[in-house]
Amino acid sequence: METQRKPLSTKNIGGSKLPMPGSRLKPPQSVSVKRSRSSEEDSAIVSNPNPGKKFRSEAPPAKMSRSVSVSSLNSTRSTRPANNAMVKTQRRPPPRPAGANLSVTISGMPSKSAPPKKPPPGPAVPKAAAAGGKKRAAWDLKGRLQDMEQVLQHRDQVSSTLQVQLESYNNRINMLESQNTQLSGTVAEKEQLSTEVYKENQEVIRKLRATQDELDDMKRKFQREIEDLNFSKSSLQRQKENLEGEVSAYQKEVSGLKSSIAEVSSAQAKIGAELEATKLGLSQSEARGRDKDTEISRLNSVVAELERVIEEQNRQKREHETERRKLHNLVQELKGNIRVFCRVRPLLGDETIASDGVIHHMNFPDLDGRVMELEKLGDASLNESSLAASRRGQNKYDFTFDKVFQPETTQSEVFEEIAQLVQSALDGYNVCIFAYGQTGSGKTYTMEGGSVDDDLTMGMIPRAVQQVFSTARDLEEKGWQYQLDASMLEIYNETIRDLLSEEDMKHEIKMTGNGSTETIVSNLTVISVQTESQIHKLLKKATHNRAVAETRCNERSSRSHSVFQLKLRGSNELTGENCSGILSLVDLAGSERVKDSGSEGQRLKEALAINKSLSNLGNVIMALGNKDNHVPYRNSKLTYLLQNSLGGNSKTLMFVNVSPKEECFQETLNSLRFATKVNQCNIGTAQKKAK
Ligand code: ADP
Ligand code: MG
Repeated sequence: METQRKPLSTKNIGGSKLPMPGSRLKPPQSVSVKRSRSSEEDSAIVSNPNPGKKFRSEAPPAKMSRSVSVSSLNSTRSTRPANNAMVKTQRRPPPRPAGANLSVTISGMPSKSAPPKKPPPGPAVPKAAAAGGKKRAAWDLKGRLQDMEQVLQHRDQVSSTLQVQLESYNNRINMLESQNTQLSGTVAEKEQLSTEVYKENQEVIRKLRATQDELDDMKRKFQREIEDLNFSKSSLQRQKENLEGEVSAYQKEVSGLKSSIAEVSSAQAKIGAELEATKLGLSQSEARGRDKDTEISRLNSVVAELERVIEEQNRQKREHETERRKLHNLVQELKGNIRVFCRVRPLLGDETIASDGVIHHMNFPDLDGRVMELEKLGDASLNESSLAASRRGQNKYDFTFDKVFQPETTQSEVFEEIAQLVQSALDGYNVCIFAYGQTGSGKTYTMEGGSVDDDLTMGMIPRAVQQVFSTARDLEEKGWQYQLDASMLEIYNETIRDLLSEEDMKHEIKMTGNGSTETIVSNLTVISVQTESQIHKLLKKATHNRAVAETRCNERSSRSHSVFQLKLRGSNELTGENCSGILSLVDLAGSERVKDSGSEGQRLKEALAINKSLSNLGNVIMALGNKDNHVPYRNSKLTYLLQNSLGGNSKTLMFVNVSPKEECFQETLNSLRFATKVNQCNIGTAQKKAK
C-alpha cells in the first residue's frame, strides 16, 4: 500500500522528529550565531541541529533592515538607563517560515519615530506653575515677577538638562552608528551564510525527500514483503493445518492398521493352531483310513455273503410265490369257480318319496351278508288266493348268494370282494365278471361307475385296472414282466362293434391256438397299455362311442352287452415261468322280459336277441355245471366270445344287480332266480393256463 507522503516541514527537519533508522541526519545540536551572549539570552538561542553545517529555513530569509528591527522593539527595554547604551543582538531566531519577523532589540535606544513614554528625569517645574495654581492678582506685580523668574529658572534648568541629554544621545548615536557599521558587515555575512544555509538546507531537503522516497519505497517494499510474508504465513498456516489433519488421519490409519495387524496376527495364530489341529486330525484320519480300508475289505466280504443270502432268500421268495399261487388257486377252487354276488342299489331321488326311503319288500336277515329276503307285499289288487299264499308264507322268497351287498355298500367295499379274482387274472387264470339285471338296476354303475378320478364312485373296471398295474409292479421284484393289451366292444343284436374305433368294421370271433384255447376278434382294436391313465383314456373313448350309438338308437346301451377285456401275459426271466390270463368285465344288456306280443320290428328283434343271449348264457353255465358233453357256446356271440373264460380254467363272477323299487319286484325276482341257477352250477376246477 502506497503511503501518502507528508509535506516536509521545517519543523520536521529542525526538530529531532526524524527517527528514521539509517538516516544520515545527525542528532540536533544547538548553535548560536551571536557574538556574545549572556546567560539570560541562552534560552533564546536558536537550536541548530547540525552545528557542522549551517542550518537554514526552507523559507527565504527575512530581509534584515534596520528600520524594521529597531522600530519594532523599543518599549521592552525603555526602563534601562540611557547610558547603558549597549546594543545587543537579543537573539538569533530559529529558521522560520517565510514571513517570520526577525526580532532584534536594541536596548536603551528610544525609537526615533515614537518618543519614550516617560521623559528622562530633569529639573522640577515650580509648583505653582506646575500646578497651575491660583492666578496672581493683577496687582501682585512682585509675585508675578517672582513667578516669571522661577519659570525662567526652570527653563534654564530644563535647557541644561536637555543639553546633557542631547550630548548623551549624540554619544549613543555615534556609538550606534559604529555598531551599525559593524552590524552591516555582519548582516551581509549573515545573509551570505543564510543563503548558503538555505542552499544546504535545500540540498538536505532534496536528500531527505530522496531518502523519504527511498524510505517510502522501502516501506512499501517492506509492506509488500510483509504482506507477501503474511500471505505466505497464512498459506503455510493452512498447509500446516492440512498437514496436521493429514497427519492425524495418517495416525488414525496407522492405529487402524495396527489393530488390523493385531487382528491378522491373532487370526494367523488361530489358523496356525487350527492347521496344527488339522494336521493332527489328518494324520489320525490317515490312520483311521488305513483302519477303514481293512474294515471296508472286511465289509465287502460281509456284503458278498449278504448278497448270497439275499439271492437265496429271493430264490426262496420265488418258490414261495409259486407256492402262493398254487394255494391261491386251491382256495379259489374250493370257493367254487363260479360265484354270484347280489347288489341292491339305493333308492334315488324321487324313489324315496313313495316308500319314505325304506325298502319294505327286502330284508337282509343274516350277519354274514349272504342272505336276502324278498317279500311280495299285499295290495288292493291281491286276490284271495294270493293273500292265502302270503299267510302260508308263499309270498316270501329267500336267496343265498356268495355275497349280498345292501344299498349302502360302497364301490370300494364291493371291489374288496373281487380283488382276489383280479389277482387270479395276473396269476394266469381267465376271469369273467358279469353284471346281470334289469335296466336301471345299477349294472353300468357297478362296472364303470362315475368318474375315474372320483374314488367314491369309480367302478370295478377302473379299480381292477388299478390293481393289475400295482400288482404287476410288485411282481417285478419277483422277476415278473407283464404285457397288457386292452380292448372294448359291444354286442348289439348279435353284432360286434369295436368301441375303441369310430370305423364300422365287420368283426368275426375266431378260435386259435392248440385246441382252440385262444379267442380272437378280427379287426378289433387292441391297445397295449403301460399306464393306468392310458386305460382311463380308452374307457372314456368307449363311453363316448357308446353315447354316440345311443343317439342313433334309443336305449341302445341297455340292449347291448359291453365287454371290456384285458389280456395279461406275464413272464419271469428268473424262474422261466410264463402265464397268460384274460380279465373280462361284462355289462350285460337289461334282463327285463320283453313281451313278444305288442313288440314288432327293431324292438322285437332286440328283445329276441337279448333273450337269446342271456338265456344262452344261462344255458352254457348250466351245461358246464351239468358237465354236459355239449356246451352251446356258439349259440350266441357273447358265449362264443367268452368260451375260454367260461368253464375250464376260468373263474366267473356274476353280479346280480337289483332295483330297490317295489314296482320292480317281479324283475328282481326273475333276476334272483336266474342268479340262483347260475350259483348252483359247479363249473369245475379251473386250470391255470400255462404254456
Ligand atoms: P343299468 O346299467 O343297470 O341300467 P345304471 O348303472 O345305469 O343301471 O343305474 C341306474 C341309476 O342308478 C344310475 O343313475 C346310477 O347312477 C344309479 N345307481 C346305480 N347303482 C347305484 C349305487 N350303488 N349307488 C348310487 N347310485 C346308483
Ligand atoms: Mg347300463
